[in-house]
Amino acid sequence: MHKSAAMSVIEAMLKNQERLTTSHYIALEDEFGAKNYKPLDVVLARGQGIWVWDVEGNKYLDCLSAYSAVNQGHCHPKIVATMIAQAQKLTLTSRAFRNDQLGLFYKEICELTDSHMVLPMNSGAEAVESVLKAVRKWGYRVKGVPEGQAEIIVCENNFHGRTVTIVGFSSEAQYRDGYAPFTPGFIRVPFGDAEAMEKAITPRTVAVLVEPIQGEGGIIVPPADYLATVRRMCDREGIIMVTDEIQTGLGRTGRMLAEEHYGVQADVTLIGKALSGGVYPISAVLSNKEVLGVFHPGDHGSTYGGNPLACAVARTAMRVLVEEGMIENADRVGGYFLEQLRGIKSSVVKEVRGRGLLIGLELVPQAGGARRFCEALRTKGLLCKETHDHVIRFAPPLIIQRPEVDWALERIADVLKTN
Ligand SMILES: *Cc1c(COP(=O)(O)O)cnc(C)c1O
Repeated sequence: MHKSAAMSVIEAMLKNQERLTTSHYIALEDEFGAKNYKPLDVVLARGQGIWVWDVEGNKYLDCLSAYSAVNQGHCHPKIVATMIAQAQKLTLTSRAFRNDQLGLFYKEICELTDSHMVLPMNSGAEAVESVLKAVRKWGYRVKGVPEGQAEIIVCENNFHGRTVTIVGFSSEAQYRDGYAPFTPGFIRVPFGDAEAMEKAITPRTVAVLVEPIQGEGGIIVPPADYLATVRRMCDREGIIMVTDEIQTGLGRTGRMLAEEHYGVQADVTLIGKALSGGVYPISAVLSNKEVLGVFHPGDHGSTYGGNPLACAVARTAMRVLVEEGMIENADRVGGYFLEQLRGIKSSVVKEVRGRGLLIGLELVPQAGGARRFCEALRTKGLLCKETHDHVIRFAPPLIIQRPEVDWALERIADVLKTN
């Protein structure tokens, strides 16, 4: 293998047990890693609560929470303790056998989310894929749609993950580019427009798949009556309503599920990300009995899905979310954060929107994109990530308190006024 000069330096340092610095870690990633991300050049080594530290010892407020996977805060002591204890007892059995965590996980998550049946998976994308299979089978076996003709309605500007099928119904050109051919059977309609959705319904429609608030799409909040209208339409037409709450769920918007803001219960809800508080990949399809009831032994599966380590961690992650009042805190502190952000007078701000601690600040096009603002915020000790080109997302762990929000606001206002 050809070795670059940077790699020779790093190898010598490793041999001499010298401490690598930021540029060395970046060089390692650049040398060997696929380039499918463009991270900020900060190399993190430690996290506690809302704070993270880089390899140089600089401290930052985490305003991304790993895309809302770390709602409970970094390295929550109770979640980590469960992780360690369970890792020493039993980690993986596969579903060929039963384990003593799975049933309790099912019971607790059903009680917390008012669901009847659960399918555990690992990543968010797998939960989405699983529900696509379930609603198609439901369409053929229950609704009576002719085999092979099921249609699923999705929204423009959606984000549901990165598999070939999922990017196939994305409206984002880059997510699709170069990955065809795609899975047929998806119809896209504008987000937030229930009328357009209704027009897209045919006798072959089996489900609609919608995010209560579009996260990756730029923190887009739909009209207040949107989800309730979709709910009524699905009831009327005999269509399964699926909400993807992988980002909005588990307290992020100030409710256990974001759909609660709208007084709506979907037939199927997808959760992931914060289900483990960021320490282990686990996702779940939460459903009524009718939809997940279509699966019979052998119809679907996953080697790691429902493993005892994931289930034990998820049980504690859900418990602390509730016990420690994180959901109410997200509602209260999030409302304050949003209101204060709206109060910042700056010519580069177009709009501030969101719910709970899922907040997007959209810049005017002339501001030159959100990336350089994120770079500037980093130098002040705030880690934020742009979503799309012009939106800065503020989504700190749900345990953030007002004084810490004030600390952040001071720096955000400064960056918005001087850039
Ligand atoms: C992150 C996300 C996904 C995909 O989850 P992965 O674990 O990255 O596969 C799906 N839907 C929404 C709304 C998300 O935010």
